[in-house]
Amino acid sequence: MKKTFNINEKGYYGEFGGAYIPEMLYPNVEELRQNYLKIMADASFQEEFHALLKDYVGRPSPLYFAKRLSEKYNTKIYLKREDLNHTGAHKVNNTIGQILMAQRLGKTRVIAETGAGQHGVATATVCALMGIECIVYMGEIDIARQAPNVARMKMLGAKVVPATSGSKTLKDATNEAIRDWINNPVDTHYIIGSVVGPHPYPDMVARFQAVVSEEIKKQLLEKEGTENPNYLIACVGGGSNAAGTYYHYLDNEDVKIIAVEAAGKGVDSGESAATSVLGKEGIIHGSKTLLMQTKDGQITEPYSISAGLDYPGVGPMHAHLYKTKRAEFIAITDDGAMKAGMQLSKLEGIIPAIETSHALAIFEHKTFEPNDIVVVNLSGRGDKDLQNYIEYFNL
Ligand SMILES: *Cc1c(COP(=O)(O)O)cnc(C)c1O
Repeated sequence: MKKTFNINEKGYYGEFGGAYIPEMLYPNVEELRQNYLKIMADASFQEEFHALLKDYVGRPSPLYFAKRLSEKYNTKIYLKREDLNHTGAHKVNNTIGQILMAQRLGKTRVIAETGAGQHGVATATVCALMGIECIVYMGEIDIARQAPNVARMKMLGAKVVPATSGSKTLKDATNEAIRDWINNPVDTHYIIGSVVGPHPYPDMVARFQAVVSEEIKKQLLEKEGTENPNYLIACVGGGSNAAGTYYHYLDNEDVKIIAVEAAGKGVDSGESAATSVLGKEGIIHGSKTLLMQTKDGQITEPYSISAGLDYPGVGPMHAHLYKTKRAEFIAITDDGAMKAGMQLSKLEGIIPAIETSHALAIFEHKTFEPNDIVVVNLSGRGDKDLQNYIEYFNL
């Protein structure tokens, strides 16, 4: 059998993945598992998915040769412009796919969890597009911290429900969403926002995001005469923009993969989200993966200046890429990311999301050859992070 870094029939990437769920959730997840590949393979599904990606999201996103950045680091740097998508990041690729999935499954109600609010906004957007009821669970503390995104969701017609238990943040919102799904198994679809959760979510989300690497192949062939870059680089929170960037290259080991995590105030500072380095095997949100935990297995609170990378686990695909050394994992601090974000703004006229700034900081940490083709996924735009940039740089 050919060696593959992709998922197997049982829903595992190597030893990671699976569906570790309470019995009460089994019917919902099983319905999805039995149907998702069939539905996605359907020609009418593909047609509708790609038509919306084109006319609503604005795909294909450009693959832009960053001339001044390339000169500065003496290598060939291309930026995959997911920041130009409608709603400003890659997340909408997944929510478009999942809203069509929900419709094909006959669902009339959608729920989602959100931390910083980006996935909540992407979900509320597609629910408005389709006229489907939308409930977004969000920690009470996050609601206070992320007022603009709460307002966006409300304008888009979603109901934002505060999670008031535990730490009142993302993991508590996830618990509330799961409780809702258990209580509403027939009419409701749960849109998970990254390549996390029980099988089939990591695979389904990766397949929706795979449009990113599908386009990179075509665009590089046009620009460089080869489909294959030397390096692919993406930031990793749960891992969905990275999974999309790597997807069609996973089994092509000539293409080197770099995953960038958030080191927060430093990997050993106790305030970090460098999951692969600090994480141990465990189960989080229904999947076996690497996660940050105490000695007795309690999940620890992650920290990063970037809300989108602030997740204590990592998708099972990435745990596998780390364990097998197929990908090189690098952790970038808040300071490193903020500087890289400022630099891209000045050199290329592109203000990146702070999540993305972590990936861009790679060039201060690793030297590439002048002839290397390096593709960085520019996962999102920085408008949402302006307040953070203002405070950090005293603008
Ligand atoms: C949410 C987000 C991320 C992190 O999520 P992944 O699932 O790891 O991609 C990265 N970049 C941006 C711009 C985001 O909004």
